Amino acid sequence: MTDLRKLSIEQLTEALVSFGEKSFRASQVYDWIWAKNARSFEEMSNLSLELRKKLTSHFDINPAEIHQVQISKDGTIKNAVRLHDGFMVESVMIPTSERSTACVSSQVGCSLDCEFCATAKLKRMRNLEVAEIVDQVVLIHRQSLEFTGRPLSNIVFMGMGEPLMNFPNVVEAIRKISDPKALAMSPRRITVSTSGIPKMIMKLADEKLRVNLALSLHSAIEHKRNDIMPFSKAFSLEEIKNSLIYWHRETGSIITLEYCVWGGINDGKEDIEALLDFCQDVMVKVNIIQYNPIGEGKFARRNIDAEAQYIRALEKNNIPVTVRRSRGADIDAACGQLANKNL
Ligand code: SF4
Repeated sequence: MTDLRKLSIEQLTEALVSFGEKSFRASQVYDWIWAKNARSFEEMSNLSLELRKKLTSHFDINPAEIHQVQISKDGTIKNAVRLHDGFMVESVMIPTSERSTACVSSQVGCSLDCEFCATAKLKRMRNLEVAEIVDQVVLIHRQSLEFTGRPLSNIVFMGMGEPLMNFPNVVEAIRKISDPKALAMSPRRITVSTSGIPKMIMKLADEKLRVNLALSLHSAIEHKRNDIMPFSKAFSLEEIKNSLIYWHRETGSIITLEYCVWGGINDGKEDIEALLDFCQDVMVKVNIIQYNPIGEGKFARRNIDAEAQYIRALEKNNIPVTVRRSRGADIDAACGQLANKNL
């Protein structure tokens, strides 16, 4: 049976009219599935019993469910979310004193091979459906209300998977999350974080979604970045930079460059100079991420002194820079740590 949430509003209208219903019923059903996030037909109390029976005999609703919760000592919550076919993804709720952020997954596993990332060790099994992405947001919104008393304020596509490799579903999920008739969250509070696929960055800019873009850069030296993120051999740094220039021209929004500093990998003067050079002619801010090691390998050592040197050099060159403190490291919920480890 088809999940009702796979239907567009037009297809929903067509289905209801074929049941002999008035077309306005479609917006009532849409409201139940996308604004009220109904998880069953029984909840749709303003629909007649007869219509609910018809819907039940033709469609189903397959909500994603929280299977396991781990709470960090810093308040970060990692959820193992079970999908209708038994696959699991991880979604994280990161509370601070002013905001609650949901870090959501876009794929089961990942087809890319970033060396520092635990998710890369999992094979990509499939892309998430639109509803499965939206469900993570709804589940974390409810969790935020329960644990912090505040609604969800921000969403980052930084969980499992490369969002731009699940392009249509991620775009449609963002439309649903920001649709005033669905979740009605501001797209300005949504960030799509990509490992950097130039063609798709430009395509995302063309969608005019008004979301923010973050790029995992980690090195502005071509051969080093190719070692850190081997798939990126397919594109030059110049192509990536051009796509960022295009992004800014088309959307007006500043791009965040995500950057970890590892001892012996990207902690030299030449690395800092290459980053400063990359930041020329493109509107960016740099976010230094305090990396959480995922093992004993070459990415095990964060270089704190070099982080400070990066910050000084960026500030001196008037390039905005922030430092992202690690959250949820004790439960493997931090950046690069999502790997369904305890399931
Ligand atoms: S960092 Fe992102 S794109 Fe790279 S392997 Fe991990 S999940 Fe995939």
